[in-house]
Amino acid sequence: MKTREQLKEMAWKAIDDNKDKIIAFGDSIYKEPELGYKEFKTAEKIKKLFDELKYEYKDKVARTGVIANRKGKQSKYKVAVMAELDAVVVPGHEDACSTTGAAHACGHHCMMASLAGVAYALKDTGIMEELDGDISLMAVPAEEAVEIEFRNTLRQKGEISFLGGKQEFIKLGAFDDVDFMVMQHIKKKTDDTLADVSSACNGFVGKLVRYIGKESHAGAAPHEGINALNAAILGLNAVHAQRETFKSEDNIRVHPIITKGGTLVNVVPDDVRIETYVRGANAAAILDAAVKVDRALKSGGDAVGAETKIIDIPGYMPFNFSNELIDVAYDNMVKLCGEKYVNKWGAGFGGGSTDAGDVSQIIPTIHIYMSGAVGNLHTEEFRVGDKVHAYLTAAKALVAIAIDLLYDKCSIGENVKKNFKQQLTKEKYLKEWGKI
Ligand SMILES: [Zn+2]
Ligand SMILES: [Zn+2]
Repeated sequence: MKTREQLKEMAWKAIDDNKDKIIAFGDSIYKEPELGYKEFKTAEKIKKLFDELKYEYKDKVARTGVIANRKGKQSKYKVAVMAELDAVVVPGHEDACSTTGAAHACGHHCMMASLAGVAYALKDTGIMEELDGDISLMAVPAEEAVEIEFRNTLRQKGEISFLGGKQEFIKLGAFDDVDFMVMQHIKKKTDDTLADVSSACNGFVGKLVRYIGKESHAGAAPHEGINALNAAILGLNAVHAQRETFKSEDNIRVHPIITKGGTLVNVVPDDVRIETYVRGANAAAILDAAVKVDRALKSGGDAVGAETKIIDIPGYMPFNFSNELIDVAYDNMVKLCGEKYVNKWGAGFGGGSTDAGDVSQIIPTIHIYMSGAVGNLHTEEFRVGDKVHAYLTAAKALVAIAIDLLYDKCSIGENVKKNFKQQLTKEKYLKEWGKI
């Protein structure tokens, strides 16, 4: 029987041996960015790799998701190693898709490369035969909560219920037999730090707002119209008047945009649309702020006699930490990067959101940030500065954590599970969050 550390060395060697293929795979995904729930080509690429490795997989999970499974010598627990398929919209990025404006400016292609690395590490290396649990390789759609109107259309057609792919995975039962979720994400390199093991992040709800007024000639007969743009302006200002009531520890952020402001300048606008998120550090604070935002938005419509329609869309939940899983990840990051380059608790509170937060409410989840990007995420400046770190070291970290959780009758995994404070069961999650 091999030791825990020998298994990791074997996995890391397999990743190094397949270095060129892993880098080519990540680069190929970078070159063809696709937006959430439309990642058909990206899904084909990971399926092709699984085919080459002769891994069985399930595809079309939540439209584009792909899940392969590797069996251990027994199946006590299952670790899901997760990567996101989707890109974000940054039309000015030099590598953006010319038709959709999609670009891998959030670095999800690095996650896909790391998933490929884990896939190579588990192929004919004898590692799975030494583990007491299974490893599931998951490529999940739609992490970026963008194109809310498009996704709302999918919701209305019954194709999806949630904005995010991991939320759909929860609903579809992809995590029903999964005990731990392990993933990583690139971050901008700002100092010597090579990895933030864990950072807190906000959750949010999404809102689609529509003011319906009455059109009329803007010069000749404005008195016969109802100006929906005025309603929106008053509503947005009323939202700003709520901000002093938000507690700083709740980290509430409300950042609306107008997606339709009118049609013709000489017609009183009768259809004005807004999209917004209401973000916050915990579910109760988000829901409280959401009530205030609704009230404020509606006051704009009431003031001018327009109708205010608000559709709520379940966003993402805040992160629920597993301290024991953070310890496991930290030890492995220190082995890979050196103690002085690893930041256990990251850079404090991140104002962004991820649907990994939803999974973390139900099962122990780790979401590591690997420094490797030049320029801010979601901007034209974003580039991957260090592919060896962002693709290969990331893969080594994920596989090492999975080995730790499943080795020796899953003793470490058992400790993580025992101490995990589950916030929601799947059923409660679907009932409470899904109802929004
Ligand atoms: Zn992003
Ligand atoms: Zn991202």
